[in-house]
Amino acid sequence: MSVLDLVRPDLRAFAGYSSARRTGASGRVWLNANESPWPSPADAGARCNRYPSPQPETLRVALAALYGVTPEQLLIGRGSDEAIDLLVRASCRPERDAVVISPPVFGMYAVSARLQNAPLIEVPLRDVAAGFAADLDAIARAAEQQGARLVFLCSPGNPTGDVIALDDIAALAARLEGQAIVVVDEAYGEFSDLPSVTTLLQEHANLAVLRTLSKAHALAAARIGTLISAPELIAVLRNCQAPYPLPTPCVDLALAALAPDVLEETHRRITVARAERARLSAALAARPGVRRVYPSQGNFVLVRFDDAQSAFDRLLAAGVVVRDQRAALQLHDALRISVGSPEENDAVIAALSNNKDATA
Ligand SMILES: *Cc1c(COP(=O)(O)O)cnc(C)c1O
Repeated sequence: MSVLDLVRPDLRAFAGYSSARRTGASGRVWLNANESPWPSPADAGARCNRYPSPQPETLRVALAALYGVTPEQLLIGRGSDEAIDLLVRASCRPERDAVVISPPVFGMYAVSARLQNAPLIEVPLRDVAAGFAADLDAIARAAEQQGARLVFLCSPGNPTGDVIALDDIAALAARLEGQAIVVVDEAYGEFSDLPSVTTLLQEHANLAVLRTLSKAHALAAARIGTLISAPELIAVLRNCQAPYPLPTPCVDLALAALAPDVLEETHRRITVARAERARLSAALAARPGVRRVYPSQGNFVLVRFDDAQSAFDRLLAAGVVVRDQRAALQLHDALRISVGSPEENDAVIAALSNNKDATA
């Protein structure tokens, strides 16, 4: 059983676009890509007149070290959003092979499924005493019965903040071997107590993990996301990816962000964010009109209100923009509030306090 059996048959041997940078040739004079021989006068670092490497080796090695995997297990994309799209395209035949999601959840899985015209199976999260929880048995049954090729799990979940135990993910991957690729989106993994699912990859070829520099590493605008999975699957997806997906300035910025001193500062900030998450959660739970604050392992909290519209309006009047979740399944009264700087979190707490508290 190979993970390639879960890839669209017409793409298993697809070689993709043969770009000038992929030939592996080396020389002194580069006349094979119709590039300008002169850097742009606007390009002070003279970095951008040549097409970039499709997967710059230095960045692959640095990200592999960051995530504790080998470079062959890793595909770098324009954010993890691109990796989500590539996974759907490469594994789902339109109108046949389904994608399973557990709403309320990050919206891009459904968007990519829709663009591919892949059937979407929704297995709602269960709202239990401890918070939201994925119903992994129902997910497995739906995938088996309705012919899913992809299952997206989000852990920590966005917008719900819950995590899925590694043993449960391993059991799901084992059960769906030969049926579906189980993708675990760890966009918020840095803020969580759990170890990464990457530790399970050796055992399960049909498991894939999404990581990103957009959240904890503060590089949302650089668009650097990583898919980690079996090398055979990574090789297929590379051939489906755009020829030069990674702009050189973004690659340089990502490399700079992975330098040891920068990583140290990033870890300090993660510690602050986790402490602020606890402080914000406790303060919100004590506000009048707050029905429930869900436990969160991300850098955000999901909050139910007696009157979510009024809470949204009061925050907006104070200049604070939060995510209205009321259109999402099971979240008719909820807002998602990102954990900001301590001052920003103070503004949230003040805006949701009564007038006496707000002047304090
Ligand atoms: C923010 C987010 C992403 C998007 O990450 P990019 O790398 O910026 O594309 C992916 N998954 C989840 C769950 C997110 O919340």
